[in-house]
Amino acid sequence: MGFTCGIIGLPNVGKSTIFNALTSAKAAAANFPFCTIEPNTGAIPVPDDRLPKLAKLAGSAEIIPTQITFVDIAGLIRGASKGEGLGNQFLGHIRAVDAVAHIVRCFDDENIIHVEGSVDPLRDIDTIDTELLLSDLDSVQKLLLRIDKPARSGDKEAKAQQDDLTKLEKHLSEGKGARSFEPGNPEAMAAILANLLTGKPVMFVANVHEDDLASEPKVGGSRPVDKLFGYTEKLGLKLVVISGKVESEIAELNRDERAEYMAAMGLTTSGLDRLAVTGYKLLNLITFFTVGPKEAHAWTAQAGSKGPQCAGKIHSDFEKGYIRAEVIGYEDFITTGSEAKARDAGKLRVEGKEYVMQDGDLVHFRFNV
Ligand code: GDP
Repeated sequence: MGFTCGIIGLPNVGKSTIFNALTSAKAAAANFPFCTIEPNTGAIPVPDDRLPKLAKLAGSAEIIPTQITFVDIAGLIRGASKGEGLGNQFLGHIRAVDAVAHIVRCFDDENIIHVEGSVDPLRDIDTIDTELLLSDLDSVQKLLLRIDKPARSGDKEAKAQQDDLTKLEKHLSEGKGARSFEPGNPEAMAAILANLLTGKPVMFVANVHEDDLASEPKVGGSRPVDKLFGYTEKLGLKLVVISGKVESEIAELNRDERAEYMAAMGLTTSGLDRLAVTGYKLLNLITFFTVGPKEAHAWTAQAGSKGPQCAGKIHSDFEKGYIRAEVIGYEDFITTGSEAKARDAGKLRVEGKEYVMQDGDLVHFRFNV
């Protein structure tokens, strides 16, 4: 399923509206591979300016962007960590994703009930964060119970981990997410932290009234979206401003109509494209390309992946029988203009099993089966 981003937020903030727009918009764009994996899961293409340039130079017949999978995790409510609603089930779904898109209602509409009675982005974030923190606190306390015995018996590793867990428990009870925790022993804690709900990379998505799309959010401004922006700026978090309503209208249109409608709304990119790109950035991924006359194809790997692992993204045989990779950096390909010219200019590198793939690399894998 690749890399996944879970959509969370209080009820009635527009999660399903945005999710449905995400999935149906791509279904309408025939050129893009789209699949609904389950009713609440959909993979969408991640736009990348580099792909059309590569395709043009290489005369590729088709462009195949990389994808990011969004999961609509409905139903998080106040009390979820105590099992309210479908509490634990939702929290389990969040545990399974790589990153989180937290949708916050910034639009007012008297016909659509706000579960907390009024539009107040910061209070809503606090409600959700509290549930996530309580759930994490519970997980950490369980781990502490389990580690007590080995730590007391003199196991040094267990003791070190116990120290970190005790500090983490305090950190969480002060209302701070696992994301900002600095463990004494990062290696031993990495898996634990990655599994905590407040340890996931997060972006906020402001679902705004369509009139609010025209002007950028301002720190210190009076609109709900401004308050949210003040919060994300202070914490150095990413914010995507979107109108669920506008996006669902865009999703109904064919490609030409879409361009016209967006121009009329003063939009240069669709909110959904921004969501895909920002979600992708959160995940600490790199993109590499395989480019030829048939297709210009973007692939995704975790940053730091080596040649064979990247080859395995294309086919497991490529990984098993990996011999080497022939690599041209993106800029070198663009400057020289073709594979042959890059080779003549000495810009084609032959890389072995230890090569750490770089974002933008154009690759041919050589392998034995
Ligand atoms: P969810 O519970 O978070 O999945 O919320 P929904 O997507 O089901 O949306 C709840 C209600 O808000 C629905 O009636 C939507 O049509 C409406 N809604 C969603 N986004 C917007 C928006 O941007 N503006 C307005 N006015 N209504 C919206």
